[in-house]
Amino acid sequence: MKKDIRSMDYEELNTEIQNLGEKSFRARQIYEWLHVKLAGDFEEMTNLSKALRARLEESYEILPVEMLERQISKIDGTNKFLFRLHDGNVVESVLMYYKHGNSVCISSQAGCRMGCAFCASTIGGLKRNLTASEMLGQVYQIQKISGERVSNVVIMGTGEPLDNYDNFLRFVRMLTDEHGLHISQRNVTVSTCGIVPKIRALADEKLQITLALSLHGSTQEKRRKLMPVANKYDLAEVLAACDEYFEKTGRRVTFEYSLVHGVNDTPEDVRELTAILKPRSCHLNLIPVNPVRERNFVRPDRKNALNFKNNLEKSGINVTIRREMGSDIDGACGQLRLRYADAETDQ
Ligand code: SF4
Repeated sequence: MKKDIRSMDYEELNTEIQNLGEKSFRARQIYEWLHVKLAGDFEEMTNLSKALRARLEESYEILPVEMLERQISKIDGTNKFLFRLHDGNVVESVLMYYKHGNSVCISSQAGCRMGCAFCASTIGGLKRNLTASEMLGQVYQIQKISGERVSNVVIMGTGEPLDNYDNFLRFVRMLTDEHGLHISQRNVTVSTCGIVPKIRALADEKLQITLALSLHGSTQEKRRKLMPVANKYDLAEVLAACDEYFEKTGRRVTFEYSLVHGVNDTPEDVRELTAILKPRSCHLNLIPVNPVRERNFVRPDRKNALNFKNNLEKSGINVTIRREMGSDIDGACGQLRLRYADAETDQ
């Protein structure tokens, strides 16, 4: 079986190449081809001898992340990509243009087993974890295809990153490594539905990345109705793990809250959210939920969402409404992938 060379970090690649009897500057060249020049094929590595390229080809593979579809929003230029992996699984990634730079949202798993009620990505369950190479491959492909430098990365697409912890961590370390794209850790955000032991483990890594916790319900009971993970980890435990993350890293946690009309946007929710968030140094991000064909959720109108936000602000909460990006293309996370799966089944 060929080894997954793009998932090897700088040290590992160095050892590997020296074991082939090559000098370590060759490892530096290969790492640069893979992670700076973003080569997808050994043939592109033209400063290596033909013989070395052939040896690499024989023993290693660069897992493909092949573009199947690209949608570009006419409203704000947001790009949505559908990528095919080597085994036919497909994943979504998004490129968004902000004043502070170009931000890419990647998937960490093909499918997801977390079962959140408002999410299209979990409908077919988990297919498999993505390797670090496949996560890096999404960022690299987008940078290559768009010709734009990626400065921010959010791991918020399909999948629960902390359910694929080792690969996710490897991805973050390599993405921010000085030998690779060298994206600042402060420009990386990971979103989790609240896997407590992994949040605690991540706090111990003492990275400078932002933790975004999908809160979505203002009490344990409300959260349980929307997120099965809450049956395993109580809201109080999740909040304590977030506090630990803040204490150990100094990074303020962002709480994500999908607003579902009539479900979690009532005055009672404002009171309950205030009670849990006010004592914390944190930020609340409201996301008016995208209607998902397979679910019965209604998106609150702009006025209701603004009202909800204003009431929270009056209570002293640091809150924003997430700007809607690419509303004219397959909006909700997981929908493009789902549509592709439907089309495959229809054939
Ligand atoms: S919201 Fe995230 S964790 Fe929940 S089902 Fe969707 S992809 Fe999985």
